[in-house]
Amino acid sequence: MDPRVNQMKLHEFQAKELFAEAGIPTPDSQLAATPEEVVAAAEEIGYPVAVKAQVQVGGRGKAGGIELVENAEEAQAAAESIIGMDLKGIHVDRVLVEQAVDFVNELYVGVTMDRGEGKPVAMVSTRGGVNIEEVAEEDPDAIVREHVDPAFGMHPYQARKAAFEAGVDREIATDVASVLQTLYQLWDDNDGADAEINPLMVTSDDEVVAADAVFNVDEDALFRQPKIAEYEEDTKSDDPLEQKADEYDFDYVRLDGNVGIIGNGAGLVMTTLDLVDHYGGTPANFLDVGGGAKAERIANALDMVFSDDNVDAVVFNIFGGITRGDEVARGINEALGQFDEIPKPVVVRLAGTNWEEGMEILDESLVTVEQTLEDAVQRSVEYAQEVEA
Ligand code: GDP
Ligand code: MN
Repeated sequence: MDPRVNQMKLHEFQAKELFAEAGIPTPDSQLAATPEEVVAAAEEIGYPVAVKAQVQVGGRGKAGGIELVENAEEAQAAAESIIGMDLKGIHVDRVLVEQAVDFVNELYVGVTMDRGEGKPVAMVSTRGGVNIEEVAEEDPDAIVREHVDPAFGMHPYQARKAAFEAGVDREIATDVASVLQTLYQLWDDNDGADAEINPLMVTSDDEVVAADAVFNVDEDALFRQPKIAEYEEDTKSDDPLEQKADEYDFDYVRLDGNVGIIGNGAGLVMTTLDLVDHYGGTPANFLDVGGGAKAERIANALDMVFSDDNVDAVVFNIFGGITRGDEVARGINEALGQFDEIPKPVVVRLAGTNWEEGMEILDESLVTVEQTLEDAVQRSVEYAQEVEA
């Protein structure tokens, strides 16, 4: 996911609603919030059904957020274990009860913006059903990419070409191409950011069905997307950290790693993120506290990363301009001074206006101070790895 775009992520059930309306085949499904509702929905749909946690995190299957059930008793048990569970830090309060698909193959189709090329790109792979980022790393050729000229849209021949090049079976290639073209159209019409169907399941009678659905849109375009904007309230209530970020008025994106990152200015935060990655760490978030970061904002930023269970260490990267280093340092001392025990190690690097005063003010019984960004990032990665080990 690209932290440079504020993405609003639809829930699976919302994305499937959009997909189904546009003509992409999706399984029969119903949303449910209690075990009774789950059983009722399952009886109506007919067994077997999949009970799927509706939270916007990848890999729900592996994390225990999806169960296939054959009867009412199993449906009840699955509902009781999934509803109310904590899935990668997010409370599950609803599930999608969905007709199970009897599949022989799992494909991947997706559309996103390729910033390198400056063009949208449509993707197809026969290695669906697993984390596509991993496939991209291990075997990049397994994902076929077709760039689209946004002025002309995706030509039908491009969609067919992508399906054939990916090695999709002849019998279903036309259907896969049609799904890809519809997905591109939805992406284009709705100011999409990341859109994907993983897996696009293939059944024994050569049907394709969208078994999962991701549809993220550019949040800054919501003003001209009234239909998508209707989903907004519902998508917000989900992640307590994203809610907090809204309250505090931070630019925040949750990522998968364990190094919490706080900085001022989007470019600086991105650089920090890249460096964490460069030194073998994994960023837990993108958090931009913005300009003029007063003590209170610093305290709020720390509250954000401390309350993220995935964070094992924190790196603070502040470049003083309007924000003065001494002020930031006081903010950090004040915020950390309130703890009897600092919950997670914090590494600080200050530069720019009043950085020297700031460094002196920082209480080294509370934080680790580093002179350079490289040292600060490396130190935070080490701390995070120690916790992990
Ligand atoms: P994710 O783990 O959050 O990406 O959730 P998915 O919806 O992609 O489901 C993960 C995996 O669960 C799929 O790749 C399938 O192997 C399995 N699964 C999900 N739904 C069904 C279903 O209806 N039938 C069957 N047989 N397997 C399913
Ligand atoms: Mn999936």
